[in-house]
Amino acid sequence: MVLAQLGGSISRALQQMSNATIIDEKVLNECLNEITRALLQADVQFKLVRDMSTNIKKIVNLEDLAAGHNKRRIIQQAVYNELCKILDPGKPAYTLKKGKPSVVMFVGLQGAGKTTTCTKYAYHHQKRGWKPALVCADTFRAGAFDQLKQNATKAKIPFYGSYTESDPVKIAVDGVETFKKENCDLIIVDTSGRHKQEAALFEEMRQVSEATKPDLVIFVMDSSIGQAAFDQAQAFRQSVAVGAVIVTKMDGHAKGGGALSAVAATKSPVIFIGTGEHMDEFEVFDVKPFVSRLLGMGDLSGLVNKIQDVVPMDQQPELLQKLSEGHFTLRIMYEQFQNMLKMGPLGQVFSMLPGFSAEMMPQGREKESQAKFKRYMTMMDSMTDEELDSTNPKILTESRIMRIARGSGRLVHEVMEMLEEYKRLAKIFSKMKGLKIPKKGDMSSL
Ligand code: GDP
Repeated sequence: MVLAQLGGSISRALQQMSNATIIDEKVLNECLNEITRALLQADVQFKLVRDMSTNIKKIVNLEDLAAGHNKRRIIQQAVYNELCKILDPGKPAYTLKKGKPSVVMFVGLQGAGKTTTCTKYAYHHQKRGWKPALVCADTFRAGAFDQLKQNATKAKIPFYGSYTESDPVKIAVDGVETFKKENCDLIIVDTSGRHKQEAALFEEMRQVSEATKPDLVIFVMDSSIGQAAFDQAQAFRQSVAVGAVIVTKMDGHAKGGGALSAVAATKSPVIFIGTGEHMDEFEVFDVKPFVSRLLGMGDLSGLVNKIQDVVPMDQQPELLQKLSEGHFTLRIMYEQFQNMLKMGPLGQVFSMLPGFSAEMMPQGREKESQAKFKRYMTMMDSMTDEELDSTNPKILTESRIMRIARGSGRLVHEVMEMLEEYKRLAKIFSKMKGLKIPKKGDMSSL
């Protein structure tokens, strides 16, 4: 789970403060010290952290707060606002239009995860109805074309490259032309990386950019460098018109928070984060929902996005429609357990739900949850269609509950527990009622 440690520490600090009988200056300071420590551990720049703490103290003037005001909510909101400020580049990301041919050029240092990310980016859009294609213009690293070819084949995405041509500009131009003729609307050009920032790399980048005229240049960087990301992002920005950034390896590095805030300081919007080596370990990055999730406040827009990732495309419009109408039935719960079991990783989905902080669904507990879901599904197999399709749990009378327990070979209290889980989820999903949902055939958020 992304930044689970940081999120856990911050929500724990807020929770501890909430547990205090009276919130006075001492309690507030303890809470802010805890948050400060967590952010510094994540390599967020000292000045940013210090300013954040000062600003919160200024906003939350405990003595001035009129009696009856909810101090906890005010403090949580102030932490939320300040974290958003740290991560906000002050500039929206450039939006591409589906159906109109766009060229996206990827740049970055060798090993940053550029080639892997190109495929993840293509796959993400393919799942949302785009027609992507991959061009390998990395002639520097031996094996780069084979790697791209392998990834692209796995994801069933068309690709272009050459084993013999050594001019990256020629390959890029030929690839883009080929895919424009094939009506691809997202032509992704993977360029060469280098071990370090050097003149030759930047010159090649400029040439490929001039020849292919990309609509968007995406800079890919590894989160493990923490706040050093500032200098790296600046150097790339000065050589080529970087329109967006993707920060990779957010799964394994404690310094992720530092990297994200440092990129924001260069005024470049981060659009995705990489959270693992696999194709679907890739998340849309949006400051407000991200911070909301970090503080254990849930992320409904992230949930919609996750649904687009884990639910088969033909079932998405119907499910989103039902949820936006507030119809969360046991059958929907059953089908979603099925999808989650199939598509894993549960933690990612659960961390999007309001009320599920990183601590409640820690990494490594997925197996336990999976066993529970399977148990619940066995019980639901013993229910009637009417029961599964109802939004009123009262139709499950005591005798029906006993019958379901007998039919599924489980205990009555286990059936009751499953129904409690249903009610809890139904309450959470009821917040999606009225949520704006993407139109059919336009499931892209970017
Ligand atoms: P490139 O040289 O920039 O093209 O980098 P690659 O795409 O070859 O990636 C370098 C290594 O990083 C590979 O082993 C990838 O599997 C790995 N990698 C890429 N993105 C992520 C990520 O988000 N998380 C983790 N854990 N590994 C990643």
